[in-house]
Amino acid sequence: MTVDDLGGRRASGTPSVVRSLRTHGQRLVPFSVEFNPPRDAAAEARLWRTVREFERMHPAFVSMTYGAGGTTRDRTVRVTGQLAGETTLLPVAHLTAVSHSVAELRALVGSYADAGICNVLVLRGDPPGDPLGEWVRHPDGVEYAEELVRIVRDLGDFHVGVASFPEGHHRSPDLDHDTRHLAAKLRAGAEYSITQMFFDVEHYLRLRDRLVALDPEQGAKPIIPELMPITSLRTVRRAEELCGRPLPAAVVDRLTAAAGDGPEEDRAAVRAAGIEIATEMAQRLIDEGAPCLHFITLNFAKATTEVLTNLGYGVTAAPVPA
Ligand SMILES: Cc1cc2nc3c(=O)[nH]c(=O)nc-3n(C[C@H](O)[C@H](O)[C@H](O)COP(=O)(O)OP(=O)(O)OC[C@H]3O[C@@H](n4cnc5c(N)ncnc54)[C@H](O)[C@@H]3O)c2cc1C
Repeated sequence: MTVDDLGGRRASGTPSVVRSLRTHGQRLVPFSVEFNPPRDAAAEARLWRTVREFERMHPAFVSMTYGAGGTTRDRTVRVTGQLAGETTLLPVAHLTAVSHSVAELRALVGSYADAGICNVLVLRGDPPGDPLGEWVRHPDGVEYAEELVRIVRDLGDFHVGVASFPEGHHRSPDLDHDTRHLAAKLRAGAEYSITQMFFDVEHYLRLRDRLVALDPEQGAKPIIPELMPITSLRTVRRAEELCGRPLPAAVVDRLTAAAGDGPEEDRAAVRAAGIEIATEMAQRLIDEGAPCLHFITLNFAKATTEVLTNLGYGVTAAPVPA
């Protein structure tokens, strides 16, 4: 079955993420951004303002996460399709196995193909409600992301990415187990991985070393680091929820020192410290040869564009493909 068989519009003329990274033609390391599906019309309007802000800076790709709720899921497919059809951006649709049969997953991939999307980030997802709760596979679904990578690849001309975990996935007993399963997902047909966010660049570098040592062929595939600029102490808690583990003490100390001892958090100082931390991390990743910088935006442009501006990125003419 080809993408054409799955949907009306042909998506196979769309570049893959890896090709976009290789041919991006910017003088700086490519960057990319992650959006979340909007929950209502007001959130959707805000998302579009953010999308247009980033469009002027020519990210290598933009990704749209995939949630657990039914209405949001329909909105996700629609909005991701609009990114493909109504912008100059290259969208990547996240796809999770949570609460889906294989037949439903195939139909979803068909909807993406129909909307002109051929880049999919394949994930298992977390149990709805409690991400750390017991994982229960759908009776007609898949157990691990690796199986879903094969399913999506078998459906046609899709370009697949997967998740990687610099500090190990919270369900992995140790880092070696974690790295073996990452290599298996890549061998199953994934072309790159995007990491979970982290706040110590050493963890990213060690993941890269482990993967190269285990399997040089898979280790040569891009590992795209994910960053999230911290803008308040509340974002620290959000970051810890998303990482499933506490932030490094050195980072928390810097942010709490900026917050001050007063009854109110010094929000401007915390924000400045958060932007500075993200800028330092991004610069180190560039120096260490990261293939791209992927930013969690929570659908706001300001913090990420400040980090990018600090690094010398700006509004540019469309890059000439290399
Ligand atoms: C960049 C990124 C984007 C994300 N986007 C979303 C999103 O849009 N929506 C969402 O709900 N969640 C998202 N997540 C969260 C993700 O779904 C969870 O972290 C989930 O718990 C793991 O997904 P996975 O695809 O890595 O799972 P898997 O690769 O299936 O791994 C799950 C666990 O099983 C282990 N494992 C894998 N294969 C085997 C095997 N054969 N035998 C034994 N153990 C095995 C792994 O080591 C790991 O511990 C994202 C995560 C990242 C890093």
